[in-house]
Amino acid sequence: MRFVDEAKITVISGNGGHGCASFRREKYVPKGGPDGGDGGRGGDVLLRANSKLLTLYDFRIKRRYTAKNGLPGMGKDRYGKAADPLVIDLPVGTQVYEVHEEENGETSQRLLIDLTEDGKEILVCEGGRGGRGNIHFKSSVNRAPRYAEDGKPGEEKNLRLELKILADVGLLGLPNAGKSTLVSSVSAAKPKIASYPFTTLVPNLGVLEDDFGVHLVMADIPGLIEGASEGQGLGHTFLRHVERNRFLVHLLGAEEVGDGSEGTDPFAGFALLDEELRRYSPELAEKDQIRVVNKIDLLSDDRLAELRAAAEKAPWPVRFISAMRGDGVDELVDEIWERYHALEEAEKAARADDEAESVAGQDE
Ligand code: GDP
Ligand code: MG
Repeated sequence: MRFVDEAKITVISGNGGHGCASFRREKYVPKGGPDGGDGGRGGDVLLRANSKLLTLYDFRIKRRYTAKNGLPGMGKDRYGKAADPLVIDLPVGTQVYEVHEEENGETSQRLLIDLTEDGKEILVCEGGRGGRGNIHFKSSVNRAPRYAEDGKPGEEKNLRLELKILADVGLLGLPNAGKSTLVSSVSAAKPKIASYPFTTLVPNLGVLEDDFGVHLVMADIPGLIEGASEGQGLGHTFLRHVERNRFLVHLLGAEEVGDGSEGTDPFAGFALLDEELRRYSPELAEKDQIRVVNKIDLLSDDRLAELRAAAEKAPWPVRFISAMRGDGVDELVDEIWERYHALEEAEKAARADDEAESVAGQDE
């Protein structure tokens, strides 16, 4: 299971415009002096973190990014126009490595920047300097220089982009509980999001978007249980990925719901998986959960009514959905957003408290 998105691109800054060699030609001035202007600077290439982007998909399709060249200088002291910088927006969290091809054919890499904050920018390739025009080369020994400088070429760099996709919401459930189905049914609610080709990249990642364009990433965590029960334990990469999970949506397939006979708890399946989760990642087990029984389309109305009544006595609220048919999915998505915003607010308040405290500390 990979939660790392990767792309390799080439970025090239613009060439500087050539300087111009020309001479003033005016009436009554038989031999005008040099008046060739400088070439304009080539465009820089900048990388910028943009929280609206979520994946590196675009960079797998378009791989070369070239800034415009500066314009050449002209006669009559006119300077060539400098080219605008080319700004490449990357998802927040992208790590940018410069890849060097060594002479022996090996490649080496160097981390250029970790784009951790929205709006953060870095200059990766400087535009070539414009060549100087011949007005600069006039001297006492050469009053009519016929040469001008060429613009300097732009720089070319090979970059490797790496993005750890962090999920806000983790989906927990045994194999077949319907996690993938839920991911696709919530993502399909917004066609724009459905077109994010996550399926090829990470099979179990869904994206929710609210009316304000805020994104929330939901990740299936099957590797947790499946991998663990095969004795693989939890990879560190994986744990790092789920650390960001603010809360979990815990799915229990209707087949796993007990019949409640002889006073048994029909929802014991939730607790069983909680227990398993605690063993593999106490940290994850601490997270809040939204508990959901899935596949209610498989249940008769009577049975569903029974279960709803039993759920009243459960220690936590239990929702009922059919990820496949869509019953209850919108309500679940609303609740996910509510939780998400509530947690964000709480985090913001906690941060503000911390800051207030540290300011108070400085006063003492
Ligand atoms: P995952 O292993 O948790 O990702 O489960 P999947 O989403 O792959 O679903 C496992 C199986 O259950 C698939 O055959 C799904 O079509 C089916 N399934 C998922 N959700 C529902 C549902 O709401 N109703 C019914 N009847 N089947 C479902
Ligand atoms: Mg699945």
